[in-house]
Amino acid sequence: MIEPNSELIIDFELVRDNIKIIRDNLPTNCKIMGIIKSNAYGHDLEKTTQALDKVIDGYGVVRLEEALKIRESSLKPILAMQGVYSSEAYETLNKNNIWAVIHSVSQLPLAKQYKDKLVHWIKVNTGMNRLGIRLDDLDHFQLLFKDSNVLMTHLACADNPKDELNVMQFKNFDHAWNKVSKNMKRSILNSAGVFNFADQAYDWVRPGIAMYGGINFPGLKTAMTFRSQIISIQSLGKNERIGYGGRVKTNKPTKIAVVYCGYADGFPQTAIDGTSVIVNSHKSQIIGRVSMDLISIDITEIPDCKIGDWCELWSPDMSILENTQKNGLLSYELMTKMNQRVKRDYLNI
Ligand SMILES: *Cc1c(COP(=O)(O)O)cnc(C)c1O
Repeated sequence: MIEPNSELIIDFELVRDNIKIIRDNLPTNCKIMGIIKSNAYGHDLEKTTQALDKVIDGYGVVRLEEALKIRESSLKPILAMQGVYSSEAYETLNKNNIWAVIHSVSQLPLAKQYKDKLVHWIKVNTGMNRLGIRLDDLDHFQLLFKDSNVLMTHLACADNPKDELNVMQFKNFDHAWNKVSKNMKRSILNSAGVFNFADQAYDWVRPGIAMYGGINFPGLKTAMTFRSQIISIQSLGKNERIGYGGRVKTNKPTKIAVVYCGYADGFPQTAIDGTSVIVNSHKSQIIGRVSMDLISIDITEIPDCKIGDWCELWSPDMSILENTQKNGLLSYELMTKMNQRVKRDYLNI
């Protein structure tokens, strides 16, 4: 075995497959704005843009610097989804043909100056009460009700279609729509929305996590493989304790493998016993508390397991959701928290 390291292997063919599933779920003319904020949810901003440029209609970022980075390599529309806040930033948008969200009255003076130069996405607050213009204030934005602009909102409960807040948000959005130019475009849905409310897709949808395979929908695959090697194997008897705090006590002879990866790589420290991993194509489980640099897994039932074998923490074959659902965590958070020290490999860019 050469010096081991934890690895993150990102397969963009899988991301493109996921996008195809998203597209198949949408009306034909609906455009996809792929959300690539936070370093493309940990998948590398620039490589993701390169890999998706032929299958996506535009990109949504949060920070201006993200927009500028990808403008060098893509001519597609780019939307700065949280807007900008200074005339310097507006000038930069203008120079680089980047679209901007306007979500607050306080941004109006600058937005007015650039109303004929930039595409604006007017974000209304329909009930999430995070960013967005209140319906009562929408009239102040008349100057921006132009055919080239987009009316948008964001759902708070798209992943829970039964929540009554969805009904209210759609109703409020219609209310806002009645006030603006009917030739404007509309955008409401994020990933969960695409799968739960495809009838509200309108002109643009804004999926992020679904592209990377971090939500449950038939066919979507986790596009990242997070793996590391086994560096030790222990054969324990009955009544032996494992790891910090001795959290686990064996109730039978147990074989454990120690994997060269821990919470400092990005595996969640709070993972409980029974959290699934894969070793040599077999399912195995975490046993004992996750350490900074090590994880113990139960290989009692796994044949021929040896030092140097790879353990997949999550992968296309072991959805990241198995981990997050078991541990009450978010795939978004795990994907964006992968540590820098994990070795990266990118396939099918
Ligand atoms: C992050 C974000 C999205 C994408 O959300 P997913 O749940 O990852 O699909 C869409 N729209 C806005 C405004 C966002 O901030």
